Amino acid sequence: MRTRKTGRRFVVCLSALLLVALALPWPVFAAEPVAAARKPADFRSQNFLVHTDVPPAEAKALLERLETMLKLISGYWGRKPSGIIECYIVRDLANWPDGAMPAGGVAKIREGAGVTISESLRSANAFVAKATVYSVADIGVPQHEAVHAYCQQTFGSVGPLWYAEGMAEMGQYWREGNLEVSCHPGVLDHIQKAQPKRTMREILDTNRQAGDTWENYAWRWALCHLLANNPNYKAQFRPLGVGLLLEQAVSFEETYGAVADQISFEYDFFLNHIDLGYRVDLCAWEWTRKFATPPPGGTPIASKVKAAAGWQPSGATLTAGTPYAYTASGTWQTAKDAKPVAADGGDKGKKNAPGRLIGIIMRASEPGQRFDISKPFELSAPFDLSEQGTLIPTTHGRLFLRCFDQWNELADNSGAVAFKLKLAAVGDPLPTPTATKPR
Ligand SMILES: [Zn+2]
Repeated sequence: MRTRKTGRRFVVCLSALLLVALALPWPVFAAEPVAAARKPADFRSQNFLVHTDVPPAEAKALLERLETMLKLISGYWGRKPSGIIECYIVRDLANWPDGAMPAGGVAKIREGAGVTISESLRSANAFVAKATVYSVADIGVPQHEAVHAYCQQTFGSVGPLWYAEGMAEMGQYWREGNLEVSCHPGVLDHIQKAQPKRTMREILDTNRQAGDTWENYAWRWALCHLLANNPNYKAQFRPLGVGLLLEQAVSFEETYGAVADQISFEYDFFLNHIDLGYRVDLCAWEWTRKFATPPPGGTPIASKVKAAAGWQPSGATLTAGTPYAYTASGTWQTAKDAKPVAADGGDKGKKNAPGRLIGIIMRASEPGQRFDISKPFELSAPFDLSEQGTLIPTTHGRLFLRCFDQWNELADNSGAVAFKLKLAAVGDPLPTPTATKPR
């Protein structure tokens, strides 16, 4: 929640409520004995000044985490942090003298949460901002708040609610070079179980700010995580974010208007398959691939299907009830040390065998019609394929393919198969697929 009051900005964060509400232990501090009453002391690092009543070793570890995160986020936004970020990190309010913190900070800490209070002076083309973090001594909350503080001091704002809170949540989970979903288990559980799930339009709706909850933070994080990591959208997401932080005339609608339906589809798909280890980069849909109906002369349509990816375009638009002959040559692996298998998954006839080639159809509106991008994207149920066979689809539409594996276990897959598909009734038969036997 953010409210503006006579030149002051309050960025109020509820992320810590998650920990309270779910009573989930926070791994690092959970096993430690409760610290004895300790007078607050000051700890400095390159970019932070922390006042805290946690023991020195804990304070040092916290500073290291904050510096690492700051390096990652300032690298992402392409701006060096401006000024020292001052933080009050509180284990026990009883250790602090009256008046050590403003009432707004104390109130949030008492709730088990955090807040970033910022004061700024602006002229026509310059600003000076000082953001101070008040937070409980947890792991995630100070990191979340420090993202807000960096944005305030460096750019002069934190951006619209969905972006501010989505990116601050990302700050908690950011690990260098790691694109896996690694969010809080409570966030994951909420997204997996929620029915119906929050739509992209609801997340972006600026009228839905009142009565904010940690659940809203979870959905905003998911949208930011998708846009920051999906290769279809990430190149535009960074400059959009910088523009939002600088309060320039940019918007989600202007940046993504033409592909908003695709983002909405990929966002829903992400929410429906999310798990620890899920990779939105590997599961991105390739929208630029051209699709065609298999030629009447029987010439095959060819595509490559990688094991380490989600649904991939075959290039073929199919007509329901028409028999198509297909082959899939080559082998792939569904784990680093797994035996390479062919597109039958190494076990003919077994359903859900890892390594089995499977298909899905993105429905087109009418048989033979061009794909209508203005219509919502609708998927058939997935169906098994193999090394070769005849496919008689029950749905019109575009054929997508993938190597069957758990959605959060694609990263360690390797290999690819060469897929060919033609009208079964005409032309020469497809050659028998090569490398049909596992090595
Ligand atoms: Zn926040």
